[in-house]
Amino acid sequence: MARIVMKFGGTSMAGTERIRNVAARVKHEVDAGNEVAVVVSAMAGETDRLVNFCREAAPLHDPKEYDVVVAAGEQVTSGLLAITLQAMGVKARSWLGWQLPIQTTDAHATARIETIDTTALIAAMSSGEVAVIPGFQGLTTDNRITTLGRGGSDTSAVAVAAAVKADRCDIYTDVDGVYTTDPRIVPRARKLAKVTYEEMLELASVGAKVLQTRSVGLAMKENVRVQVLSSFDAPTDNPIPGTLIVGDDEIGDDEMERQLITGIAHDKNEAKVTLTSVPDRPGAVASIFGPLAEANINVDMIIQNIAHATGSTDVTFTVPGAELARAIDTLEKAKNVIGFAELMHDTKVAKVSVVGVGMRSHAGVASTMFKALAQRGINVQAISTSEIKVSVLIDEDETELAVRVLHTAYGLDAEDAQ
Ligand code: ADP
Ligand code: ASP
Ligand code: MG
Repeated sequence: MARIVMKFGGTSMAGTERIRNVAARVKHEVDAGNEVAVVVSAMAGETDRLVNFCREAAPLHDPKEYDVVVAAGEQVTSGLLAITLQAMGVKARSWLGWQLPIQTTDAHATARIETIDTTALIAAMSSGEVAVIPGFQGLTTDNRITTLGRGGSDTSAVAVAAAVKADRCDIYTDVDGVYTTDPRIVPRARKLAKVTYEEMLELASVGAKVLQTRSVGLAMKENVRVQVLSSFDAPTDNPIPGTLIVGDDEIGDDEMERQLITGIAHDKNEAKVTLTSVPDRPGAVASIFGPLAEANINVDMIIQNIAHATGSTDVTFTVPGAELARAIDTLEKAKNVIGFAELMHDTKVAKVSVVGVGMRSHAGVASTMFKALAQRGINVQAISTSEIKVSVLIDEDETELAVRVLHTAYGLDAEDAQ
């Protein structure tokens, strides 16, 4: 007998038939004698729909009320899964974020889980009842509903798994594992049997949305055994293996996974901001990025151009697309202090990144990237690097081409692909 947490994403929960499939999978684990908690997402498209309602109501809205609205999608699917399980003769009960509670910080729309009260959960699970938990939601200490950022149900699942000391956290989704890149863009992508926490963390943080970044960080910290699997294969005792997220020590040096580049990810949700004619003096950049930090807006890539003869310079950087309106508002308010001439912005950009721990010991990764992109006439607008990653900002229309070209350039294409 094992204690397991199963998480089902939006596509897996989209409609009565699919929820029935999910319930059959859960029943399979219960019948095998396991204690089960299930974390569910809202139906595919539902959270987007709710986010749009908030935008339509007011473009700059109160994040506390945004959370009340967008947390609703998961309330529906958790109740529906409990009903479906009960109809199959499986004892089940839903537990909303506020009922456990799942305590979070008060950073609305991007809250972090602080603690989960497991008393009721463990009591239910050990009595043979399936606990169904809506992902993505939590509660502040002053009893306001929070959400954990888009894709946050993965983090809910890993946090629940850590809190109940689960033997496994199985993330069921609409692909059968983690691939060298998004298999929907590159059909030649290869499935990875194992990927390290560190590489998965970096891949997720640069756009591989198969797992939310925070869920990987949390799994690494709490040593949760995470597996990514397809929810569409029929449940069997010998399921097709997905991808295991493992510690560095579990990947031998000679294994296939130990490639120079592990994977390629893209992110179309970045927006580029340029401030022209910023005075070239000490404190100038602090006057730009200070207010953005105070407004909780994450800045990613930054380029400061060489000073003009006039003693001023242009500063370009990226922010999440969803934060662009707030970033513009914040910068316009600080315009007099910063002293820029014009604010320009562009949402038709994408960030493409190559990730791999092999980069630590090999030179030339970045130059291979720039050469491959140049050969296809793809212009690089900004660059950023970390120890195990190189990212470039390009025109959004060229994203798919860039990902495919790089996948081939680093020798990642599946051998059996024509
Ligand atoms: P869920 O609703 O189950 O949480 P998501 O849509 O959030 O599912 O994540 C699964 C999707 O992630 C896949 O459909 C795939 O298009 C995308 N994806 C991006 N990068 C990768 C990758 N490297 N490996 C697998 N899937 C990826
Ligand atoms: N429903 C939320 C979203 O779409 C959370 C999740 O699915 O993980 O972002
Ligand atoms: Mg997801």
